Amino acid sequence: MSTEHNAPSVSNFIRNIIEEDLAANRHQTIVTRFPPEPNGYLHVGHAKSICLNFGLARDFGGQCHLRMDDTNPEKESDEYVRSIQDSVRWLGFEWDGDVRYASDYFDALYAYAVELIQAGKAFVCDLDAEQMRAYRGGLTEPGRESPFRNRSIEENLDLFARMRAGEFADGSKTLRLKIDMASGNVNLRDPVIYRIRRAHHHRTGDTWCIYPMYDYTHCISDALERVTHSLCTLEFEDHRPLYDWVLDEISIDNHPRQYEFSRLELLYALTSKRKLNALVTDGLVDGWDDPRMPTIEGMRRRGYSPAGVQLFAQRIGVSKSENIIDMSVLEGAVRETLESEAPRVIAVLNPLKVTLVNYAEGVSGSRSAPFHPHHPEFGERLVPLSREIWIEQDDFAEEPPAGWQRLRPGGEVRLRYSYVMRCEEVVKDESGRVIELKCSLDHETLGQNPVGRKVKGVIHWLSAEHAIEAEVRLYDRLFTEPRPDAVRGEYGEYVDFRQFLNPASFATVTAWVEPVVQSAPAETRYQFERLGYFVTDRYLHSAARPVFNRTVALRDAWQK
Ligand code: ATP
Ligand code: MG
Repeated sequence: MSTEHNAPSVSNFIRNIIEEDLAANRHQTIVTRFPPEPNGYLHVGHAKSICLNFGLARDFGGQCHLRMDDTNPEKESDEYVRSIQDSVRWLGFEWDGDVRYASDYFDALYAYAVELIQAGKAFVCDLDAEQMRAYRGGLTEPGRESPFRNRSIEENLDLFARMRAGEFADGSKTLRLKIDMASGNVNLRDPVIYRIRRAHHHRTGDTWCIYPMYDYTHCISDALERVTHSLCTLEFEDHRPLYDWVLDEISIDNHPRQYEFSRLELLYALTSKRKLNALVTDGLVDGWDDPRMPTIEGMRRRGYSPAGVQLFAQRIGVSKSENIIDMSVLEGAVRETLESEAPRVIAVLNPLKVTLVNYAEGVSGSRSAPFHPHHPEFGERLVPLSREIWIEQDDFAEEPPAGWQRLRPGGEVRLRYSYVMRCEEVVKDESGRVIELKCSLDHETLGQNPVGRKVKGVIHWLSAEHAIEAEVRLYDRLFTEPRPDAVRGEYGEYVDFRQFLNPASFATVTAWVEPVVQSAPAETRYQFERLGYFVTDRYLHSAARPVFNRTVALRDAWQK
């Protein structure tokens, strides 16, 4: 039942680069980092990045840092910081040293900005956001230089110090790099590296009223931490020249290299914190850790194992080509790891009562059954029989289709780990609904084949006297559209992804389960035989009131 499952490492272009760097002695050891912005909970896309960064450090005997990229005070909070740490640890990784924060480097970043001003490489600009957009130019036309670009170094130093001291209103001034307004790369057109924003920061409080921008912060943070390989997603490819420019122009003694790989996009899910946040704030899901959410906390609550998520990350690979993956790949990886991890027990989700008319104490026996057919070390438990049992409504049909091997009037099935049973009588209510079956046991069939006939069907069941009640929460995909945020309307506009929520994504049933699960702690994963994988809920489950979440069905019901 161990969750340790270090998926073997599959080669990719980043691994190859690292191997070459180590072989050529460019580095003695590697340092990577995972740099989330603490503005939401981590999702399955981050899981890909975590497995990559921490996996490389592990496999090459290097280090991986966890760094909160906290330069946008309005959107960031300690709640997110905590959850990010929990998610990384749950996935099975531990960062080297303390958690780091970009905000730890605010003083250093400020000092480097002063250095850039002194070198004539940065200037204070008074253009407002709208003017700046107009000056920036477009993809095919060059930008224009700001009228403030040629301020003297002295004036810039003075203004920047006064920006920091809080003399100017929010948005009234910025600090910009002096690179090239005619560059074909828009990121190099004198990018803003500091803005004035009077916002309370989750760590530095009100110490600062100017905050550094992402591009400027990121490369310097990497260099200060002596990161060797800075891995990010492809949308930052065009930012790499800026990353390199900053590190080349300041007096820092090392220069990490940035490499880009493609973002994971998971079908029937969203991989954007902003959009996931919208689902949470609109109350469309039950929080960031709703088991339908593609967040790491959601997947955890759903019952996915860390090993399953790691296996998934390994399967989807790391490259520069599109990484659009069907949900079935994730579910398949989860199923595959649970298959050997999860003990198997019986649950009946849609019970139909069966009375065993020839059940007799002492004559009818109970058997012991293993928790896993291939893992005797999981142990065994008694599967008790009594006069009344529960079977699934689905396992009985009055007028069955061709090829039916389950129960029918007058037909026989094997009760899992028990006797062969014949359906003698069907009891209905006034509306004609089947409410009970009266069946007989063949007493010669406990652990033995029936004589003179073959009984093919095997169904699961529970002794009514022994079974305990449980709430079982059935989850399905959150969206009905494979790419809910990419659907376009009549005029080419994006349709709000909230319109594609799957109304059948959540249902609750009152089920019967084996008593043995009652003592299970929260987050215990089981296979309910023939039904799927289930987990005791992380928060709601207790011995007094067992609550299970369906992790994944045994087969992919979405396959056509
Ligand atoms: P979001 O849009 O969800 O906020 P982000 O990229 O802005 O995503 P960050 O917190 O900045 O989120 O991401 C931290 C790290 O995780 C980055 O290095 C980023 O490249 C990586 N990452 C984020 N989303 C994905 C994804 N879908 N696939 C792979 N890596 C991702
Ligand atoms: Mg972001």
